[in-house]
Amino acid sequence: MVNFMADIKHWAEVVADDVLEHGNRHIVSTGITPSGHIHIGNMREVVTADAVYRVLLERDADVELIYMADNFDPLRKVYPFLPESFAEHVGKPISEIPCPCGECENYADHFLKPFLEGLEKLGIHPTVYKADELYKSGKFTEAIKTALLKRNEIAKILLKVSGKEVDPEWSPFNPICNECGKMDTTTVTGFNIDDETVNYSCSCGSNGTVSMAGGGKLTWRVDWPAKWKMFGVTVEPFGKDHASRGGSYDTGKRISKEIFGYEPPKPIIYEWIMLGKEGAMSSSTGVVVSISDMLKVVPPEVLRYLIIRTKPEKHIRFDPAIPLLTLVDNFERLHSADKLSEYDKTVLRLSHASGLCHTDIPFKHMTTIYQVAHGDFDKIMKIVRRAGYDAEKEKCIKELADNVASWLDMFAPDMVKFSVQENIPPIAATLSDEQRAFLKAMAEFLQDADELDGEDYHNLIYSAKEENGELHKRIKEILGVDELSLSPKTLFKAIYISVLGQASGPKAGWFLSSLEKDFLVKRFAEAADFRP
Ligand SMILES: [Zn+2]
Ligand SMILES: [Zn+2]
Repeated sequence: MVNFMADIKHWAEVVADDVLEHGNRHIVSTGITPSGHIHIGNMREVVTADAVYRVLLERDADVELIYMADNFDPLRKVYPFLPESFAEHVGKPISEIPCPCGECENYADHFLKPFLEGLEKLGIHPTVYKADELYKSGKFTEAIKTALLKRNEIAKILLKVSGKEVDPEWSPFNPICNECGKMDTTTVTGFNIDDETVNYSCSCGSNGTVSMAGGGKLTWRVDWPAKWKMFGVTVEPFGKDHASRGGSYDTGKRISKEIFGYEPPKPIIYEWIMLGKEGAMSSSTGVVVSISDMLKVVPPEVLRYLIIRTKPEKHIRFDPAIPLLTLVDNFERLHSADKLSEYDKTVLRLSHASGLCHTDIPFKHMTTIYQVAHGDFDKIMKIVRRAGYDAEKEKCIKELADNVASWLDMFAPDMVKFSVQENIPPIAATLSDEQRAFLKAMAEFLQDADELDGEDYHNLIYSAKEENGELHKRIKEILGVDELSLSPKTLFKAIYISVLGQASGPKAGWFLSSLEKDFLVKRFAEAADFRP
């Protein structure tokens, strides 16, 4: 069979090779306004940037990955997750507003901190810049001067590209009022290039003068291209909202070239991540799974894989319930495949990051092990060893067990949850004579057997239904019959009823191998004799 993927380049390689034609020095930039919970949709941006950064490194480019926290943007409104009292802060820069929990330096940091921790867990290590610090230290002052002096040219570009005519009093610079602290209520009334100051009047009734260094901020459509020039950005991923016709990338391109004299970066426009069936994720609609919640559940390399395997322009549907297991399965299969195409090798390589854990225990199997062990880590390790997995990487196994615990708690549907019953469950009274005979034969066999692994158990159960199977003859003897036909479903059900007190359960082979053999001998024997 011809593998058509064999010589297809990965999208990150396409981007990297494209920009390498223009030089060897590159800055891959990414940035988010931390005005609310930074969710998994935003994570696409940083993983996308990191993937291109990593390929550029592999290609020996002189490259840096930077992350810009746009924490000097104003608070737009009282978001649903905020108390009403935040109404007084609307319009103030989010770096200058108190944090909602009272424990962080400021509002922006409250949302930024967990996000930066998430990046760390994903093996992404950008140089982090905070917009408020850049503004306050005067890094933007040159750009502010240029923008104020070329105000009319910028206004013309905005009109031509976005079709919107700005107000006569519009300015590319928004001063922060000295009285009320807001930046969306001020009007520029003059400026002094030599003193680097701007005069304003505010709708709160006051007038004043601010420094260009920290006394205000360039409006977003000008701030963005100013940053490209300041950092020498050559590659930048952003969501499709910025990429619309006449949108901020379109105006940014022109402003960058014509106002700042800088060639705009190569854009990577990415689609949204959709959550389950509920719609696109964004922090303002409330359909949000935060990155920290997600990282509690999904192993970091699997989250990277989710994003890296999909072209940025395709949307990703992410369902943290059962479909998450399929995603993990796909990744684990890729991981253990003997032969991979060059394309798959790239996907796998970019899904990994130094310091990220990998164990050979399938996520799904850990959901069984974890529940059998009732979450007790010593017991988990005992089962892991018995099952023949690599028990050396205890730290990684702990991480996986923690992921599974959170998944069971937050997203797992009831059908995958179970609890091993301490005593014989009353429902065992409903077992048929054939099921009892099967359990009795199982108990006898296990009594004399060595430790069995998952596959042994699987084969053993099937041997009960096959004419020459190990258990088949014994079951016929117990029942005193010459002919016997058993369905595997009946057999599995007997196991689940006697151990879990329910009619279904996890994959039987794995499940039984996770339990102590002596426990099974005792329980199956008991169930075989249990009468109402
Ligand atoms: Zn806080
Ligand atoms: Zn004011």
